Amino acid sequence: MDERRAALRIDAHRLRNRFDALAEIGATGDGGVHRPALGTDHLRAREWFLAEAGAIGLDTRVDGAGNQSATLACGPADAPALLLGSHLDSVRHGGRFDGALGVLAALEALQVVKDAGVQLDTNLEAIDFTDEEGTHLGFLGSLAVSGAMTADELRRPGSGLEAFQAALADAGLTEASILGATRDPSMIAGYLELHIEQGSRLNVMTSDIGVVTAIVGLRRQNVTYVGRADHAGTISMTDRLDAGQGAAGLMLAARELVMTDFPDSVVNTGVIAFEPGAMNVVPERARLTLEFRAPVADDLARLGVALEEMVRAEARTRNLGVEIDEVDGIQPVQLDPRAQHALASAADRLGLSHVAMPSGAGHDAQVMARICPAGMIFVPSAGGFSHSAREFTEWDDCVNGANVLLQAAVGGL
Ligand SMILES: [Zn+2]
Repeated sequence: MDERRAALRIDAHRLRNRFDALAEIGATGDGGVHRPALGTDHLRAREWFLAEAGAIGLDTRVDGAGNQSATLACGPADAPALLLGSHLDSVRHGGRFDGALGVLAALEALQVVKDAGVQLDTNLEAIDFTDEEGTHLGFLGSLAVSGAMTADELRRPGSGLEAFQAALADAGLTEASILGATRDPSMIAGYLELHIEQGSRLNVMTSDIGVVTAIVGLRRQNVTYVGRADHAGTISMTDRLDAGQGAAGLMLAARELVMTDFPDSVVNTGVIAFEPGAMNVVPERARLTLEFRAPVADDLARLGVALEEMVRAEARTRNLGVEIDEVDGIQPVQLDPRAQHALASAADRLGLSHVAMPSGAGHDAQVMARICPAGMIFVPSAGGFSHSAREFTEWDDCVNGANVLLQAAVGGL
């Protein structure tokens, strides 16, 4: 790469001003933001983004799925665009870094390239994807762009059809416009996203930058143990068929299994319920959820087999019946090796330490990976907190991440 491009750096002060201005929109007063997708404050944040991009002199456009783009024609006229971005929406009472940092760093990168007047092999586009967090329908914007959205899916939003359609109307979107937002992959050179880690591995490894290798896949099951309801005072401990013991045994054993044999995976039981559910009755039924995640498809499959054996073994040991109902799942996504290389090289040029790591959370990059080379940069999350007002990343780390994004963009994939 020529020296002029290699010397480009983001303007940290300008980025900070925009970051603070955006964090005011939907501010919750405790350092967090509340910008659920297509709600009043999210729509205000979207307007603010278009105004900022326009003020810099970038072209802006909004597609049929509500994705907002600022574009810079810095490459040959018919060259594809390298997309840089993230999302402006937040979870309910979320943090001010999640999504916002990636969108603002993208905008800043375009401004630096524009001001420097350098020519690249691709054009650049800063993109804000609609409803990444799933207030209505997770990854709505990126699914539409990648052509993976279906009419059927648009009829089953998590927020309920009525609320979803009212929100679409407020934002000037329709089912047809969303389905028409699919883009030609040959005009997309790649997608790079800067994001906070939302975990504490970078802190533990004292590394400046995480180069994301994969986004974990997950499977979700409802497990029901069936025993027999009995008087909790009169039936002996040896004679009872206690469904609750199956659930408790499984939870402890599953944790042990994952920690011992699947160090890159996680398992969680987030919901549990006993029936009949009385203090003086032995549980007849115990229903619990089992969610497990792994960065590699083979691990996810092997973990699934091992957990199923464990679920059944707990039932056998305690003379219980058991049912397993798989609810949904998503396969792990490997991010593009060239994108990983470009990001690692950019970090090297900047003298930043970096480490390869999978993402435990979902991101638009996993959807974009279906149609183009996709890569992600993580910066450390203080304490690993996210999706709360406690979410915090040191400003120097934000600047480092933005510079890696800029340098990878000017270096090309
Ligand atoms: Zn996010």
